Amino acid sequence: MRGSIPILMYHQVSPKPLPALQTYTVTPKAFAAQMAWLALSGYVPITLDNLLEYRNGRAPLPSRPIIITFDDGFQDIVEYAVPILQARRFTAVFYLVAGLVGKSSRWILPELGIECPLMDWNAARQLERGGFHCGSHTMSHPRLATLDSAACLQELLQSRRLLEDCLGHEVRHLAYPFGSFSDRARAIVIETGYRSACSTQKGFSGPDDDRLALHRIPVKGQDSLLDFICRLHTTRTVKELLRSKAQHSRQWLWRKKRTTNDYSV
Ligand SMILES: [Zn+2]
Repeated sequence: MRGSIPILMYHQVSPKPLPALQTYTVTPKAFAAQMAWLALSGYVPITLDNLLEYRNGRAPLPSRPIIITFDDGFQDIVEYAVPILQARRFTAVFYLVAGLVGKSSRWILPELGIECPLMDWNAARQLERGGFHCGSHTMSHPRLATLDSAACLQELLQSRRLLEDCLGHEVRHLAYPFGSFSDRARAIVIETGYRSACSTQKGFSGPDDDRLALHRIPVKGQDSLLDFICRLHTTRTVKELLRSKAQHSRQWLWRKKRTTNDYSV
């Protein structure tokens, strides 16, 4: 559909995926192949500001725009994904957990029993000097939908202020941790001055996509290059697509059979 933009959602890029994080970890080799495919296909990575300016009718977009996002700000991304992006002159957005910058991903500890190092402020500033962008992923990575208004306000406002203080510019883009948000959280996102917020709802970001709950396309560790290509066109892996087509065919046959039976009565 014209105006529909894929917003890719990555988490971790590392040569040695931890078993507990395998689904969320793409190897540098797979990531390089994916970026090569984007370059070969004529995709041009843009920023969220570019997207909003386009939606406000203030600026055009390249013919094949795409947005590359990374949630959480893992240190490995700086080491393994950034050089691959730089080699292609691709920009990307890194959503940082402001209260844990330079520390570790302690929010996954209770569920997965591990934590991973997160990039520090120097790395974040260096990324921005190199043409990348940082956004907020809150202060401590909570499920915003489960917080009361005061706690939600604190997570959103404090993280924006801390990022702005440490990065030296306005920060107006957010990604919801765990994709968790509610009407109340969304209202606080507006109140605290964010201009966009990425969800984890699967889909392309079309012209009518809620700018405070943007759809994204997840890229997972087990995806083959063919899966990645399939996701770029359908949001689904090859297997997911075939499964949905098969289900669609079964439903079609069932409806056809029922209609035929109805007529034969
Ligand atoms: Zn996250």
